Amino acid sequence: MKKKKYERPVIQKIENNYYVKHGVSARGYQKKRESIDNVKIADIVKKFGSPVFVFSEKAIREKFKKAQAAFKSRYPNFQFGWSYKTNYLKGICSIFHQEGAIAEVVSDFEYDKARALGIKGENIIYNGPYKSMESLTLAASENAKIHIDNFDEINDLEKVASKLDKKIPVTIRINMNTGIYPQWSRFGFNLESGQAINAVKRIIAGQKLLLNGLHTHIGTFILDPKAYGVAASKMLGFMDEIENEFGLDIEYIDLGGGFASLSHLKGVYQPPEIAVPSIEEYADEITRPFINNKKRPRLILETGRHLIDEAGYLISTIVGQKLLCDGRRSYIVDAGVNFLYTATWYTYNLELEKDTDGITEPSLINGPLCMNIDVINESIMLPRLERGDRIVFSPVGAYNVTQWMQFIRYRPKIALIGINGEMELLREKEKLADVESCERLPQRLKFSDES
Ligand SMILES: *Cc1c(COP(=O)(O)O)cnc(C)c1O
Repeated sequence: MKKKKYERPVIQKIENNYYVKHGVSARGYQKKRESIDNVKIADIVKKFGSPVFVFSEKAIREKFKKAQAAFKSRYPNFQFGWSYKTNYLKGICSIFHQEGAIAEVVSDFEYDKARALGIKGENIIYNGPYKSMESLTLAASENAKIHIDNFDEINDLEKVASKLDKKIPVTIRINMNTGIYPQWSRFGFNLESGQAINAVKRIIAGQKLLLNGLHTHIGTFILDPKAYGVAASKMLGFMDEIENEFGLDIEYIDLGGGFASLSHLKGVYQPPEIAVPSIEEYADEITRPFINNKKRPRLILETGRHLIDEAGYLISTIVGQKLLCDGRRSYIVDAGVNFLYTATWYTYNLELEKDTDGITEPSLINGPLCMNIDVINESIMLPRLERGDRIVFSPVGAYNVTQWMQFIRYRPKIALIGINGEMELLREKEKLADVESCERLPQRLKFSDES
């Protein structure tokens, strides 16, 4: 007979914010992940070290194809623009471009990135509340799709038009009430107040710009598809109004991004599988008003998080543990909020590489930073884990490897599991020379302990 494993007795404080099934502690932890796309976690760590971000090429391509089909099958005159700020690794952007997405950028830096990747100006949507004169001039000379945010930018672009001696095609960003609160009103021109129509009149009066597109981006992680139906109807109505009144020809309506991913937003009670609408539900709401409209302009979407979030994982390793005064067990892992910037808003799915039996206890997951806020999960029931055990966090594909910080520690490698299971590097681990490459040390401050 096999000897039973010793299990130490535990006294458990009842905490009402911990989910304890049927009032008793569960044994073991149900969520396990041994591999990503059939490549073993152990092999990934052996090759790239820990921590490491891992992206699944298969997941990216499948998600994109599914979303593209949802829209194109309903409304063929459709185009995706990849939102660079969601994840602008060259390897990731290239996959989206190979699948047929154009680029959507919100700064000169992102514009440069798209051009350096080989994207033509005409296939770049240039958004954002601040674009320097220099970058507006470059974008206009390369025929980029420039989306105007405010009246000052209209003035700037008119100067650029005079300088380049050409009429510049432009789009205006519009914000509106779609039933989503808080309403995003700081970007673009407000529709209901008459600001948007004033912007149109101002552009026409200036005679240097040609309005040929309308843009809106109503928010992010929007759980109500109906909000998009409202946005689509209002945008089409506005298009009809200004075309009739001013004889304009609007080529496209861009409805921005904002579809939710299967991430657990803090404060949303239901699990994401229930709370998050399917891409088909979003597509139904958006395309219906377009199909019913007399004129059917091109529909553009700048979907970010929905397309990439679930394709990204972070593999980390437990490097230490301790019992806190309040009875919780703190596990210290080698990746913290420096790499998982979105931990503030989302509770990630936490999967263990190994089978773990034993009674679960209230635990929290801390990163390696010497900072009290470095918490990845503040309350989770976990069986007793050991130093060296691996934890996989997901989905982390959206906004983490762009918003992450070089704070205290070197940022880790980013790997791609290719379509055929190959392990490829998308980004090296940082070195001291990388981090210090922009620093300059004045000669007179040079110091050496040796002299
Ligand atoms: C951030 C952003 C997006 C992408 O938003 P998601 O919520 O990631 O889909 C699209 N368009 C604009 C203008 C943005 O600022």
